[in-house]
Amino acid sequence: DKKTVIITGASSGLGLAAAKELANSGEWMVIMACRDFTKGEKLAIELGFPEGSYSVMHLDLAANNSVKQFVQTFRARNIQLDALVCNAACYFPNAHKQGAFLPGLFPGGGPRWSADGHELSFATNYLGHFLLCNLLLEDLKKSSVKPARCIILGTVTASINDKEVGGMIPPLADIGQLQGMQSGMKKPITMIDEGVFNGAKAYKDSKVCDVMLMRELHKRFNASTGISFTSLYPGCIADTGLFREHYPVFQFLFPVLQKSITNAYVSEGEAGRRLAKCVADPDYSKSGSYFSWGGESGTGGAGGTDAVENTDASNDRFQQYGSFKTLREDEI
Ligand code: NDP
Repeated sequence: DKKTVIITGASSGLGLAAAKELANSGEWMVIMACRDFTKGEKLAIELGFPEGSYSVMHLDLAANNSVKQFVQTFRARNIQLDALVCNAACYFPNAHKQGAFLPGLFPGGGPRWSADGHELSFATNYLGHFLLCNLLLEDLKKSSVKPARCIILGTVTASINDKEVGGMIPPLADIGQLQGMQSGMKKPITMIDEGVFNGAKAYKDSKVCDVMLMRELHKRFNASTGISFTSLYPGCIADTGLFREHYPVFQFLFPVLQKSITNAYVSEGEAGRRLAKCVADPDYSKSGSYFSWGGESGTGGAGGTDAVENTDASNDRFQQYGSFKTLREDEI
């Protein structure tokens, strides 16, 4: 019998590559949780996913009702859930300020909103996954696979990584004292620190929250449920759809920079294998870990070297941004 993994945002980039890896392993049934059902189905067929190794289900993380509906529909199928991968994300790098930025020439402009009135990248990357994890915790708890796994995508832009230029490019993540959250984090509030809207920072902040979420789930629920909560940075996949709204010149130069200068570049295929390890490989099951990989070049190519595992001590790096410290156990 196959094990079951849900991967959000499996219709593009990293999510699709990991889905392919796991579907082809013969050991996993991959539930591709996609906002665009048809796109997911079409890609799975085009990429030759074996019959019975995948199933596409509709999930729009930017609408709480959709998340709840997804969980209900999944439960109605009566399948055991063994792993959940919170991968989907959106990024609006050109949305620098309230109002349009050079309207017509570049997409972006001001903030966009989720169905529930939250800034769209905060809602998709963090809030939707927060709700999904909360609801599916019950299901993961019942898995006969030990440990069942709950995995989220962090990024170097949400941590301090002296090896990679990408993480240092301003604006840096800063969630301040969570003032935006305290004020409800709903339209017109866009930023967690209640500052002026900045699309790139909103993405980075949401990723900080994603990593914090796994740390908190680990602290609160690992001992009682046995579920393993981890996060990872798979290397810089500089040419995925994530950068679809960036300036064309950036889309061209960013992969070149990451390949030739920072050596942080990793292909979708290799990044997909790395994420698949976090789902399936016993070496990547330790709850509370943040796995961080380097680029593909210099790591022996496909397969790469193993990730650097950052557990409690080095996770403190995350506390260097904004209010991470305010969420330490003793301060909650
Ligand atoms: P892509 O844009 O290629 O993939 C993102 C996926 O999320 C797409 O499948 C997209 O759907 C889906 N998605 C977006 N909004 C929603 C929504 N509201 N509901 C459901 N699904 C949604 O980006 P990547 O593959 O690069 O990113 C995957 C993850 O990896 C992200 O969490 C990102 O932060 C992380 N990451 C990426 C890095 C990189 O260098 N690219 C580096 C570090 C981390 P659709 O197919 O319909 O567009």
